[in-house]
Amino acid sequence: MEITTIPLPELLTRLRDRALSSREIAEAFLARIDLENQSIQAVCLATPEEALAAADESDRRRKSGTSRSPFDGIPYLIKDILCTKGITTTCGSNYLRKFIPPYDATVVGKLKDAGMVMLGKTNLDEFAMGGSTETSIFGATRNPWDGSRTVGGSSGGSAASIAARLAPVSIGTDTGGSIRQPAAYCGVCGLKPTYGRVSRYGLVAFASSLDSIGAFARTAEDLAGITSLISGHDPLDSTSINEPVRPISLDRNGPIRVGIVREYLEHDGLDDEVRSSLLEAIDVLRKAGAKIVELQLPHSHYGVPTYYIIAPSEASSNLSRYDGAHYGHRSSEVKKKGTDPNVSPLVEMYCRSRSEGFGTEVKRRIMLGTYALSSGYYDAYYLKALKVRRLIRRDYDEAFAQVDVLLGPTAPGPAFRLGEKLNDPVQMYLEDWYTVGANLAGIPAVSIPCGKTKSGLPIGMQFQAAPLAEEKLLQVAHWFQTLIDYQPEFPIDSKPNQNS
Ligand code: GLN
Repeated sequence: MEITTIPLPELLTRLRDRALSSREIAEAFLARIDLENQSIQAVCLATPEEALAAADESDRRRKSGTSRSPFDGIPYLIKDILCTKGITTTCGSNYLRKFIPPYDATVVGKLKDAGMVMLGKTNLDEFAMGGSTETSIFGATRNPWDGSRTVGGSSGGSAASIAARLAPVSIGTDTGGSIRQPAAYCGVCGLKPTYGRVSRYGLVAFASSLDSIGAFARTAEDLAGITSLISGHDPLDSTSINEPVRPISLDRNGPIRVGIVREYLEHDGLDDEVRSSLLEAIDVLRKAGAKIVELQLPHSHYGVPTYYIIAPSEASSNLSRYDGAHYGHRSSEVKKKGTDPNVSPLVEMYCRSRSEGFGTEVKRRIMLGTYALSSGYYDAYYLKALKVRRLIRRDYDEAFAQVDVLLGPTAPGPAFRLGEKLNDPVQMYLEDWYTVGANLAGIPAVSIPCGKTKSGLPIGMQFQAAPLAEEKLLQVAHWFQTLIDYQPEFPIDSKPNQNS
């Protein structure tokens, strides 16, 4: 069996039994990246030398009986918004094109401590602001199922790399859906943990009260292992939750109550094929003994408008650090005296550096956020959005008093075409209708495949659970995958059509 198609649990066994070496595994995935990445652009930087050196070290540890974890020697890819010591971290932005962090993000440190092998960095929307992975300086990532379509975003490169077998697991971030929506579009599994479950230290901030880090993998079972590995309190992130991390067990005990949200099914943006796939999934669960409960989340409709006040507001504040003086891009246009006699050279340097460094969508967010926070509008927009956020969270609390998980679509439709929504921000934002609620409420949510459209595009569905109920979430997702005898499919051997 070709190494890159071997399921993760079996890779772990073969490594343990020394039937395969970490080097062999790393070489197999690096060869795949060489072969396939050019057509999909999922990986924006491969680091083969570092990867092979790390794989050799892992093999030495294995030989001497000093392996650091069951994952010692397993390769992964990581979104290019997480700091990697000595390796560029660009956020897909011209502003940080040459930025080399002097330290590792906590997540990167944890993966290293477990002995895992980084193969490279994955493509994203600039500063993770987007839903299509089209706004990166590296160009758009193409969907491995259909090269004329997007992979979703913003962690599109991490999602596509799982579908294309460029790595067995990858790491992404999710502020309003950026793990789950690309997972759905690429036919893979992706989990956004509870806010604060995974340290954000070393994650370049977009919207700090919403940002979460999580994993992509082929199955819910694979997600369980990686999610516990990256979770846990971190003194370097004051918002990280101080709760012990136990290995996630996938054995269910007792019946499962699954909530079906009326607003989700009645949303008029919902595609018919996605709706019928979801109804079939509900039927599978019902027949297997799940208790299906219909309920309401009355404030769901306010999710997108609330998110698009709060996220840009926080972004406008977070991105004020990029001033051309500290790090990242500095305009070379401004000489000592400046070019505009009415503006001080320093102010001109700030303005030019930011104008040249940021792309259109990032500028749009900074302007929206600055407006919403400005005096006179603060109460009407930002404060109002915070109040609605509280109502959204209350809806969820009431729902989770009745059910273990909520089941709904991940995105309104399947992957859309490249360019289709790029110049229509409102249409792009509406893609997030089903995902932003979990971020506003800080709850965990997972997207797993639940079928395909007639034209062969993957469809994803989303389970959401109460804060810190990742175990329950993955138990149900894993149960569903067992019920349908889920076998991951890999599209790319029929190569994406470059010309379409
Ligand atoms: N699509 C959403 C946005 O553009 C979510 C992005 C994210 O989760 N990073 O903000």
